[in-house]
Amino acid sequence: MKLINRNQFSLFLLFLFLLVGCKTANEPESSSLPVSMLENAHQQFLEPAITHRRFKHADLQPLIEKHQQNFELKELGHSIEGRSITAMYWGEGETKVMLWSQMHGNESTATMALFDLFNFLEGRGDEYDEIRNTLKNQLRIKFIPMINPDGAEAFKRRNALDIDLNRDAISQISPEAVILKDARDEFEPDFGFNLHDQQIYYNVVNTPKQATISVLAPGYNYERDINDVRERAMQTIVGMNEILQQVIPGQVGKYDDGFEPRAFGDNIQKWGTSTILIESGGYVGDPEKQFIRKLNFMIILDALNQIATKGYEKYTSQQYFEIPDNGFQLMDLILKEVEVEVEGNQYPVDIAIRRREANAEDSYFVNGSIEDLGDMQVYFGFDELEATGHRWAEGKVFEEEFENLASIDQGEAMELLKQGYLAVKVKNAEKNELHNLPILVLKTREDFPSGWMIGNAPNFFLEKEGELTHAIVNGYLIDLKNPKDQEFKQRVY
Ligand SMILES: [Zn+2]
Repeated sequence: MKLINRNQFSLFLLFLFLLVGCKTANEPESSSLPVSMLENAHQQFLEPAITHRRFKHADLQPLIEKHQQNFELKELGHSIEGRSITAMYWGEGETKVMLWSQMHGNESTATMALFDLFNFLEGRGDEYDEIRNTLKNQLRIKFIPMINPDGAEAFKRRNALDIDLNRDAISQISPEAVILKDARDEFEPDFGFNLHDQQIYYNVVNTPKQATISVLAPGYNYERDINDVRERAMQTIVGMNEILQQVIPGQVGKYDDGFEPRAFGDNIQKWGTSTILIESGGYVGDPEKQFIRKLNFMIILDALNQIATKGYEKYTSQQYFEIPDNGFQLMDLILKEVEVEVEGNQYPVDIAIRRREANAEDSYFVNGSIEDLGDMQVYFGFDELEATGHRWAEGKVFEEEFENLASIDQGEAMELLKQGYLAVKVKNAEKNELHNLPILVLKTREDFPSGWMIGNAPNFFLEKEGELTHAIVNGYLIDLKNPKDQEFKQRVY
């Protein structure tokens, strides 16, 4: 039995064709720049003088000077400790965009990207001229790199007054806050980019994916209303996310838009500038955030192009809300079902550990800490160990003293771990001196902190059937039978 004849079938095909055709025509075209182009541009214009995230105000000054031919420089004022804060203007267009970075002194990723962008903008005679011309003719851009130079000097969040500048938008107790507020008022930008870093423990909620970039179009009131100003910020963010999903799929989170009445982003949105928050998180294998620096360059350049061409108008606030939320569910290490003993009974607990960074002269070490324990299924570890049947076991201090750090090598330290020693003593070393050994080094104390409870230092062994299988040293997991290569960021105690 024939259901349709040949003519009907042809009509059906025609109908299908039209349907597909219409669908394609209705889909918004991407207005993003090609990812490969953005990547190439970054490689070409990377500022080679900045190679890590702990650069200081003094490192930036010659780089700012370098651009004085092509940018208009304006000193806006000074920080509490007297460091200059400079605005750099570029472009001759109508639409005004202001970007400020490093309001928190230890959040430097975007600052690096801005200096790459300055190199890009000032280039000429290559395949990027068309983009540059579009930006130059449509936009007037005001860049303020490193709003908190005193915080950057100490590589800490707050300024020299120990005030969080992002809670000083209204009171303006800090000169840096006055500078930023005046910079906005003088310029009255249409768009604003508030550039930060977030902790590496942020993830895309309920997934093990690290939130390498998080975004927010801050709310301007407690009701979380959306007006035209805020909507434009949302639309621009959708375009940025489109780029990011091609490079770091699933690794973009959206911040909660609860209103913070003291924050700059929220207030600048309120004052009529479409404000976009970019938070650079972590990326495995990128401790100095050089890959994330590239991502910043790519999304900022693309966003500027979207603003210049009004490409962002293709996107909707609905698409913005489809970006998944940020979570704070990452741990450096999760040990699952370790047997711990209380009152002679064994209990299997998951132990969740973070190794937080602490500053040392121009570098850092980590401080391992037990963050939580029990049922840790809502967390994700960068490293996880199924430790069912393993017992928590205490470590010992090796009795003989070593001369100094150089007299202990990696192999020797590993041998001592296998024998149940978690720490060695040295005669000559400075307290807090940095080292990369897989064992604790003591100079000013005879023993080391340990335990398995919240806040304890994660220095212990795992033992199975009377044999030591793993050492946990300052939160680093070391498989004693099969140690992997890893970098230990340690200090002398
Ligand atoms: Zn911040």
